[in-house]
Amino acid sequence: MGGCNSTTATDNSAHQKPTSSQPNGEAKAESKPADEMAQSSNYVTQSMAAKDPKVDPDFDLIMDDDLAVNKWPAQLTEHQKKEPMSLMAQVMTPELFEKLKDIRTPTANWSIARAMNTGTCYPTSFVGCHAGDPESYSIFKELLHPVIEKYHKGYKLDGSMKHITDMDPTKITSKLSESAHSKIISTRIRVARNLNFFPLNPGGSIDTRNQIAELMEKVFATMEGDLAGTFYRHTSMTAEETKSLVDRHFLFRGKDKMQAASGYHQHWAQGRGIFLNKDETFIVWLNEGDHLRIISMENGGDIIRVFERLSRAISAIENGVKKITGRDSVFASDPHIGMITCCPSNLGTAMRGSVHIKVPAMAAAIGLAEIDKMARKVQCQARGSSGEHSAIVDRVDISNWRRLGFTEYNLCQDLVKGANLLASLEDKCADENITDASKLDGLLAELTM
Ligand code: ADP
Ligand code: MG
Repeated sequence: MGGCNSTTATDNSAHQKPTSSQPNGEAKAESKPADEMAQSSNYVTQSMAAKDPKVDPDFDLIMDDDLAVNKWPAQLTEHQKKEPMSLMAQVMTPELFEKLKDIRTPTANWSIARAMNTGTCYPTSFVGCHAGDPESYSIFKELLHPVIEKYHKGYKLDGSMKHITDMDPTKITSKLSESAHSKIISTRIRVARNLNFFPLNPGGSIDTRNQIAELMEKVFATMEGDLAGTFYRHTSMTAEETKSLVDRHFLFRGKDKMQAASGYHQHWAQGRGIFLNKDETFIVWLNEGDHLRIISMENGGDIIRVFERLSRAISAIENGVKKITGRDSVFASDPHIGMITCCPSNLGTAMRGSVHIKVPAMAAAIGLAEIDKMARKVQCQARGSSGEHSAIVDRVDISNWRRLGFTEYNLCQDLVKGANLLASLEDKCADENITDASKLDGLLAELTM
């Protein structure tokens, strides 16, 4: 199961995209004003993009031609004939589209056409839909609630369940085995957070993106002690700063066509930036996808220390925003769906805690897909050496996959169990020279009972 990302960033340059084309007369003439669809955003249609080499699918907002004029997308009917389907495609019907198509949300003027564009244009997208503002989740709940229940298996949005946050590191009681400890290279835990007084990024404008960056620059200046550091803007980084941040795997670069189809990357690189503390153990990504990705990471396997720092960092950021804005509440959240994020896959804790672990014998013997299947047995997922949709080079990324309906400390315990499981399976592969996944079935059953 993937998240929202579809492709891995490959370009190291801070990409300054050309100004997107405005919707042209062609799109407008077909039906209702297309600008209503695209609200304040600039966009092009897929057929316009096909003819215009200046359009960059990794960054520009490209709309399905039918959705751009608020019509049921013919290509979605085709996608819906084949498996696998995005979660959006599993839920959306022409009848539901007709019912929702003229509704707009107050904050971002978000429409169902914008919400479903990614999965319409990219049938291999896993989730396929996005929110443009917090109220999208209630206004378009007929699409988004079934998608949430499909992604967050077991969670029900019938009002009977509530999401609870608990970031107390002393509650983590599961311990890493010695074997796991010796194989772990690094630990990283991130959460997404969005400011509740701005539209989410897909529904944002150049102004809201820059206003968020202005505000956060002031907030970052309030960070103290081990959390104090430097804010780098994508628009003004020097070539040396860019290279250094890239070399140390800290910089994000956008460049993802499925995310671009939701509007994540519009007005790139305006309002984008990265904050880094002096020790390079606390990082904030600004306006990458969500407004904030708050990250705690370090070498080694001290999950509790990484979690404790993350918990402090989230509070420091929250308090800093409160102080500077005078607001009582700053992060978008909801009692039932937890932290509000652009992509339904991140709702709840919005947290992914991972370790990079060396499991070379198992990787060679059974490969990433089998490792991922085994990780699922303990509520974890496996990714390649450089994140989502990457291959194994020298390490496996193992993390919790659950986000909604579980506390943060519980998800850290999932991570400990996942790392311990992989370490035990690796030891068996190495000791017995195993080359066949079925030879691990016995141990797997024993360890996941
Ligand atoms: P997410 O979207 O959850 O942040 P991605 O899979 O997109 O995760 O990875 C983001 C980046 O973080 C990638 O460069 C990845 O290699 C890096 N990363 C993830 N986990 C770790 C870890 N435990 N140690 C070091 N780097 C990590
Ligand atoms: Mg990612």
